[in-house]
Amino acid sequence: MAIEQTLSIIKPDAVAKNLIGEIYSRYEKNGLRIVAAKMLHLSRQQAEDFYAVHKARPFYKQLVEFMISGPVIVQVLEGDNAITRHRQLIGATIPKFAAPGTIRYDLAYHNRSNPEAHENAAHGSDSHDNARAEIDFFFKPEEICRRTR
Ligand code: GDP
Ligand code: MG
Repeated sequence: MAIEQTLSIIKPDAVAKNLIGEIYSRYEKNGLRIVAAKMLHLSRQQAEDFYAVHKARPFYKQLVEFMISGPVIVQVLEGDNAITRHRQLIGATIPKFAAPGTIRYDLAYHNRSNPEAHENAAHGSDSHDNARAEIDFFFKPEEICRRTR
């Protein structure tokens, strides 16, 4: 299988609930290595640009407000088939429809009442092209570390 890189965002709801370590632990236990990471509070412009593909959707404004409501952690994950495997780990978009055992079900729905469908703990790139573009959105090449051991 091919070694891939993908972009993960731990969204403001999960950061606020102190779930950074829990999510990192799930990545690491599932063979995804963190090769770049930083905390930042997205500007409105950054959030709008990152989700520009959803500009025409009815939830766009709510999504942007959510993404700038608190700090996030962005990271590059690396591993075999990382893009698909990361999407499987985070689960379906709406937490209550995500499978038990996934990050979105366990950490955005199951552990507390979550009426906000868009507050779903994590983002993961959904294709090779988007992974490349999303990594480049947040990281310079020299900010991504080669795992030499
Ligand atoms: P993802 O790739 O699974 O994150 O889902 P999408 O790319 O379709 O949507 C991007 C983000 O927009 C999701 O992760 C949610 O935070 C939010 N979102 C998607 N669909 C809805 C919706 O129907 N209502 C609301 N409020 N937010 C949504
Ligand atoms: Mg998406």
